[in-house]
Amino acid sequence: MVVPYTHEPFTDFTVEENRQQMLHALKKVEKDLGKEYPLIIGGERITTEDKIVSVNPANKEEVVGYVSKANQELAEKAMKVADQTFETWRKSDPKFRADILFRSAAIIRRRKHEFTAHLIKEGGKPWKEADADTAEAIDFLEYYGRQMLELKDGVKINSRPIEYNQYHYIPLGVGVVISPWNFLFAIMAGTTVAAMVTGNTVLLKPASATPVIAYKLMEVLEEAGMPAGVINYIPGPGKEVGDYLVDHPRTRFISFTGSREVGTRIFERAAKVQEGQKWLKRTIIEMGGKDTIVVDNEADLELAAESIVQSAFGFSGQKCSACSRAVIHEDVYEEVKDRVVELTKELSAGNPHDNSHFMGPVIDQGAYDKIMDYIEIGKQEGELLAGGSGDNRIGWFVNPTVFGNVSPEARIMQEEIFGPVVALTKAKNFDEAIEIANNTEYGLTGAVITNNRTHLEQARQDFHVGNLYFNRGCTAAIVGYQPFGGFNMSGTDSKAGGPDYLIHHMQGKTSSEML
Ligand code: GLU
Repeated sequence: MVVPYTHEPFTDFTVEENRQQMLHALKKVEKDLGKEYPLIIGGERITTEDKIVSVNPANKEEVVGYVSKANQELAEKAMKVADQTFETWRKSDPKFRADILFRSAAIIRRRKHEFTAHLIKEGGKPWKEADADTAEAIDFLEYYGRQMLELKDGVKINSRPIEYNQYHYIPLGVGVVISPWNFLFAIMAGTTVAAMVTGNTVLLKPASATPVIAYKLMEVLEEAGMPAGVINYIPGPGKEVGDYLVDHPRTRFISFTGSREVGTRIFERAAKVQEGQKWLKRTIIEMGGKDTIVVDNEADLELAAESIVQSAFGFSGQKCSACSRAVIHEDVYEEVKDRVVELTKELSAGNPHDNSHFMGPVIDQGAYDKIMDYIEIGKQEGELLAGGSGDNRIGWFVNPTVFGNVSPEARIMQEEIFGPVVALTKAKNFDEAIEIANNTEYGLTGAVITNNRTHLEQARQDFHVGNLYFNRGCTAAIVGYQPFGGFNMSGTDSKAGGPDYLIHHMQGKTSSEML
């Protein structure tokens, strides 16, 4: 019997002992900087000459690791191994598979701060955000392990007296998992183990900005007893390795989390039936957001300002759930705006190493350039109230930026920036606020700050987002508590960390036996 699921608690770094443990873990991780990491195909370590260089975004000179880079030939080799391994893995006992997840969670929990320290280095995450990422990785392992135990005997259906009907979920085949750099541990681990615990074999292509943490997960899973060939670790360029595997006729499903541009590209390519392909590929795709916090006139305005600032600037706004637009009732606009600006001016961006800044860097030069371009666009479209500058000499730092009086149609109100930039706009009344909130192509998260019950219920029906929050910010969904995923151009709404998630990786099989 496994104990009921509860989420992993967060670490309080104001407690001196915890702070010391974290500093110690950071020292330990520093000793491993600059190491080489091979590919893992069928359990075999393969080193390539060509390398992905993973750097600390807070200090470009600091190399986290040199990671071997797969090409099409190696991707093909990995596909063959995964395809063969599927023939045995698909028949493995679901309990055996779930136990690997539980043991992995225990291994990570024992070395929790060490993983968190690694995320601070490879992801540029502030301590709090890195700690939450590790906790969420543990949560996914614990939650999906339990979900598999619930699903393993199928679902009850009806039988007539002359027959015995059964309904089971069976695995799909080889899955390609393409994971993001923002939740470099949690989403990478969650998407990978969901595919594996359901009896599929996996080709794991982690984000090129953060491939080392995925190697570390492989080591944990191996230590926990995962057989060779079940998950194959093949970091490599999207255009070469990603496209090749998405197009491959033996690929049965693709699980992707990342940008809308890449997500829609994968969706289109996966839809094409290739020569020799015997199935329609399944896609599980989680893309971006343009997430809104609505502030009503009858509301706790301090809570509103805090929610906007925390949701906009946590991890430098590099969450698909981040608040990038706030729609504020005109009666309270000035007051909320002033408080948002005040709170924002208290924040700074800097190297997260010693935990003295609220924000760290953004992930790389491409992200930095894109965000700075949007800040320039914002200066044309609205009134710059805070921030507006960056510094990319040592790491890629962008200051938290607020624009006021922005039209709902403006580009910074419509396009995903994925950085620490929030735009504020006014609404005449609550109806108009919801209308503006829905006026994007996305539909991931949203929050409403109000004390008006009728307005909350109106939002519950009309605010069209996959994750809707009342009187709190719009980030930080917890596995098993707030299943996460969005509508429209935010993706397939597969709801990571929710009760239906594993089923997307399986297919239903009915058997009916005459008695
Ligand atoms: N699940 C995260 C949250 O609720 C966001 C995930 C993402 O950014 O991809 O904040």
